[in-house]
This record gives sequence, C-alpha cells and structure tokens, in this order.
Amino acid sequence: MASEGLSRPSGGTKRKERRMDGNFTIGRFGGVEVRLNWSLIAVFALIVWSLTDGVFPSQNPGLSHSTYLAMGIFAALLFLASILLHELGHSWVARREGIEVDSITLWLFGGVSQFKGRFTSAGAEFRVALSGPLVSIALGVLFVLIALAHPTSAVDGVAAWLGYINLILAAFNLLPASPLDGGRVLHAALWRAKGDFAWATRVASEIGQGFGYLFIALGLAMFIFQGSFSGAWLAFIGWYLLQGARAEARYVATEQALGGLRVRDLMVRDPVTVEADSTIGRFMDDVAWSHRFTTYPVLDGGRPVGLLAFASVAAIPRAEWDTRRVRDTMISLDEVPQLTEDERAVDALTELSAPRANRALVVDNGHLAGLLSITDVARALEVGRRPAQAQGNRG
Ligand SMILES: [Zn+2]
Repeated sequence: MASEGLSRPSGGTKRKERRMDGNFTIGRFGGVEVRLNWSLIAVFALIVWSLTDGVFPSQNPGLSHSTYLAMGIFAALLFLASILLHELGHSWVARREGIEVDSITLWLFGGVSQFKGRFTSAGAEFRVALSGPLVSIALGVLFVLIALAHPTSAVDGVAAWLGYINLILAAFNLLPASPLDGGRVLHAALWRAKGDFAWATRVASEIGQGFGYLFIALGLAMFIFQGSFSGAWLAFIGWYLLQGARAEARYVATEQALGGLRVRDLMVRDPVTVEADSTIGRFMDDVAWSHRFTTYPVLDGGRPVGLLAFASVAAIPRAEWDTRRVRDTMISLDEVPQLTEDERAVDALTELSAPRANRALVVDNGHLAGLLSITDVARALEVGRRPAQAQGNRG
C-alpha cells in the first residue's frame, strides 16, 4: 500500500506556495514537514471498521465489541505511524546522502516523500530506496515478536496484525515496479550497470507500466469473476502505478529534451508592464493597442503584484473602463507561479503545467526579471526533440 509514486528522487520538483491540494500539515519530525491528505480519513475509517468487525473477532474471539473497537483504533493509528516511519527512513537516509527532503505526505496509498535535487550516484539512490522497506521489515519483525511473547489476547491481536501488515507493506514496496521502492532499487542497479541514467529510467518505467497493466487486468478479473472488492482495489493500485511510471518516463524525456536550459534562457526579458493603479481605459489607450500581448505583468512601486490577462480586460463593459483599475482586474500574485532565473526549465514546466497557470513571473530579489509562458518552454522542447539540432546556438 505504501509507495512513493509521483515523488521524484531523480529530479527535484518543488512547491513554493501552499496550494489547496487537500493536504494539511501535522508537524515536523526531524526537520521534515509531515502532511496528511484528507483521503487518509476514509482509509483510517475503513481499516478500523474491517479490523473491528472482521479481523479481530475471528482472530481473537470472545472479547467485547468495545474492546474490538479500541483494538481497531489503536492498530490503525500504529499502522499510520508505521507508514510514517517507513517514509522517515527514506528521508533520513536521503539527508545523509546530501538530498534535501521537502515534505512527507501520507495519503490513500501510504506515503509520498518529496525530495529536492538529484541523486549523486546509483549507490545513493539504492540506499535511499531500500531504507523504507528495511524500516517496515524491522517493524514487522518487532510486532511479530511481541505477538509471539504471548501477551493478553487484545495486545496479541493488534501486534499480530501490525506484524503481518508491515511485512506485506515491505514485500509490496519491494516489487520491482517503478515508482515503488523496488522499482527504484532496480533503477539504481540498471544505472550502475550501464552508467546511463536516462536509459535506466526508461527501462524501469516500462517494467513499472507492465506491473501496472498486470495489476489492472488481475484486479478486473477478480472483480468481475469473483465479485471481490480486493480486485477493485488491486486495479486501482495498478492504475496508480501506471500513472506514476509514465510520469517518470515523461519527466526524464522532457529533462533530456530541455538539456541544461534554465529559466533565464527561455524567458521574455523586460516584458511590457502595467501599473496597478492605472485605469483600464488608460491601459487600453497606452498599452493594449500598441502591443497586443495576451498577458502583462502588473507593477506597483516597481514590484510585481500580479498579471493582467487581456482576455479579462476585454470582458469588461466599456462604460466601466475609466473607473475600473488594473489592480481590480488582475490575477493576484498568490495565484501566479513565480520562478527564479536560475531554476531549471524542466522544473519550471512542472509549475507551468498546473491548472490555470500557463504563465509565470520570473522574479529576482523582489524585482521583475521576465515572463515565462508554457509555450516558451514547449517551443524549446520541440527544438530539443529534433535529434540533429544541438542547443549550441542558444548560448
Ligand atoms: Zn518506500
């Protein structure tokens, strides 16, 4: 269940702004921000319910319903703690390998660790990938030992289940299916064997996609022919693996096509700007007729405060042009992605691909340095994909 899909130890993605993405922060553990996704509440309820009504009554008969409920809640909490420890295992080893860990998010399928930066070697990737499953194995063995020590029936039930689930978690995560931990171990091994990072990613991604299809087919067959809900669950996990594996392949292909390009190489320098306190009428007379761009950065006292889209100006009735200000019509700064000149183009593309964010302000020490649109990056991508054309003419 736990996997790090969509996290990309291979190429850092970072989020500077907190989006409304259904996650909330619960605290920091050893310097790593830990966040919970709302989907976890549903999973938590499902686990408590299936333990209380199914697993515990059949495993440890003769206890009261309230005891089963208490056992269920306790076991579910320790299960979440186990997933967190698995992720912290990755984080701590990553930090020792010199990779910054942004945050850990716990959600439907376990944990996702967000890393910044790249692995310096196949060995580093191997150690980071393996550390999570090793934590799960250690926890599993610990709980099994507790269960074997013949504690009271209630403690025995909780410990036995936690031992079992942690070992299952370790085994599942060790499948060589990218983006699972085992897929990363495989990627590291391939990388080490041939010394080619991109090739290793392609092969690992294809194997990961193969597992994805296999899970979907198997899950659908179980669901259709046996009416089993575990089948639906398995198919869902397969779909998730498929998406994750594809995303990794796409990221590396994009990264290769964009070469070492940075935001400064692609952005539009000194774009035409508008003053926040200027009226729409003034903007139309002074700027819009002569330039005809689709977007204009908005400045207030020399500092960027937003973006003015021509489309939203065009929607304003003419009668309001002389009373409405640019400030009231613009997209405010907290809704516009901001980049620095030094950021890698491939990471900028990730930011620009977010819904409603196809333009970003490039800001340097609070001052506007340029404007970057998704089409600027897409154009560079086209150039990069043409095999014979090198990036030499881009300086
Ligand atoms: Zn893991």
